[in-house]
Amino acid sequence: MGRVAGLGCIVCRRLALGETLAEVHHIRAGQGWKRAPHHHTIPLCYLHHRGADGIHHIGTKAWARRFWPEADLLAEVLLALGGSPSGG
Ligand SMILES: [Zn+2]
Ligand SMILES: [Zn+2]
Repeated sequence: MGRVAGLGCIVCRRLALGETLAEVHHIRAGQGWKRAPHHHTIPLCYLHHRGADGIHHIGTKAWARRFWPEADLLAEVLLALGGSPSGG
């Protein structure tokens, strides 16, 4: 999924930190929603992924409070990838 990582970290984008080198984070379905669309991946930089401010470090819930919920970010990623909701 090079397209996702190619966006740069979605959190850094929102924080206006610019495009940072991103890793692909796979969102676990079943936490905040029932059924997920096919690809649940968002780009996160090392810091926001596994680092001190990382979702895997502080936990999904704390991370969502500190930044944004994964579902919110996923919606933005899908938009940024240019896919229309119905277009696939
Ligand atoms: Zn980041
Ligand atoms: Zn991850």
